[in-house]
Amino acid sequence: MKKPFYLTTTLPYVNASPHVGFALEMVQADCLVRYWALQGVDVFFNTGTDEHGQKLFEAAQKADMEVQKYVDQYAEQFRSLKEKLNLSANLHFIRTTDPHHVVAAQEMWKRCLKNGDIEKRVYKGLYCVGDEAFIKESELVDGKCPNHPTMDLIELEEENYFFLLSKYQKKLLEYLSQPGVVVPEWRRKEAINFVESGLEDFSISRVKEKMSWGIPVPDDDMQVMYVWFDALTNYISTLDWPNEEGNFKKYWVDGVTYQMAGKDQVRFQSIMWQGMLMSAGIPTTQHILYHGFITSGGQKMSKSIGNVIDPIAVAEEYGIDALRFFLLRHIHPTEDSDFTIERFKEAYNADLANGLGNLVARVMQLAQTHLTVDLVKEIPSTLQSSILRATVYTDYISSLNNYEFDRALISIWSYIQELDQKITETAPFKVVKTDLEAGQRMIHDLVQGLYMIADMIGPVMPTTSELIKQAVVSNTKPINMFARKE
Ligand SMILES: [Zn+2]
Repeated sequence: MKKPFYLTTTLPYVNASPHVGFALEMVQADCLVRYWALQGVDVFFNTGTDEHGQKLFEAAQKADMEVQKYVDQYAEQFRSLKEKLNLSANLHFIRTTDPHHVVAAQEMWKRCLKNGDIEKRVYKGLYCVGDEAFIKESELVDGKCPNHPTMDLIELEEENYFFLLSKYQKKLLEYLSQPGVVVPEWRRKEAINFVESGLEDFSISRVKEKMSWGIPVPDDDMQVMYVWFDALTNYISTLDWPNEEGNFKKYWVDGVTYQMAGKDQVRFQSIMWQGMLMSAGIPTTQHILYHGFITSGGQKMSKSIGNVIDPIAVAEEYGIDALRFFLLRHIHPTEDSDFTIERFKEAYNADLANGLGNLVARVMQLAQTHLTVDLVKEIPSTLQSSILRATVYTDYISSLNNYEFDRALISIWSYIQELDQKITETAPFKVVKTDLEAGQRMIHDLVQGLYMIADMIGPVMPTTSELIKQAVVSNTKPINMFARKE
């Protein structure tokens, strides 16, 4: 029996519509979940929405809305990504305003407190609402937060609770010394350097009078939890924790745990969250995969520049599978990459219209004309034995096992090119005229290759994969899958 897997995305903060960076994270995660499921692994797949904190509180006030109503409306947009990005059916969706999550966050607090890792202190400092975090004087650029140069920092002096992260310096270094806990590898070294440079205890509560939109601190009516302390706990509250049995035991304690996050998340996911887990006596996350950022035309996307890519609009125009393909093939899995509509269209025409779409049409035209259903019906059942011998399949497996989505697709696409060339060079359409059986065998091999491609692209392009498989078993040329875009 294979161990069960657990995989979660980060929870997006619901103060804006889903952006292309989050679509990337979701699609990478969904590709892995589908890939593992095809290998017979039982996977728990989690996403959801982060709904507390100052930023939302202020945004709702500005919109003159009740905060709960405000977050409800955004949570719905994120929930609908399941259909809009064609995500796995078993995807769990947790909201940090769910009552059972609130209970879990409070239990996390109580465990850390009991272990002596939470302490009340007077804190004075500059707070950035954009980051929902205090900014050190040494981090300021021209007196502003480096991430939010147009926002004013708030000077805060209040009595808060602190999480004593500095106590975990040694344990975190031991944790980070394991290869594979942070992917890519060079980011693990970066995390080690960060911890070695010294960890600071951090504030995990706010005065309720000033900011009421948060989970109440247990046994203190005057304070609410800091949004990060609350939100990070979702990764286990989604497994019904603090119930120690059931899903939590199956997936988090006895399973293989994975998290996905953007590259700016290392200090939250690989350090703060792992410290909280250590304090609460819960196993740490085994693998955290960090993706890069997406720029457009070499610049950060922004409304004022007008270079914002709306992933949903792209999916509506070109198809969900085309968007999923581009994000996995042309966006680097861990480095920053550029996404422009021009680049997308170019890839769409070259790889999908002329590449895959054209091969499907060529092979299935030959099959429909010269083969019968009887001659192809055994292809799905013999796939296992034929696929294991193919080099393309070995490359594909080793790439996906290393989370190299782009490399997996490059191998498949070179195989597409190989089949295309084979048709041109061996000309089965001529051979059938002189030796029907020999020609049919050649076409049969091409159909088998096509079926293998359909099988491999399943985790990336689930709908296209199914359409090709159906075309093969019914021995029918399908309608044009990817019409060229001018
Ligand atoms: Zn900031």
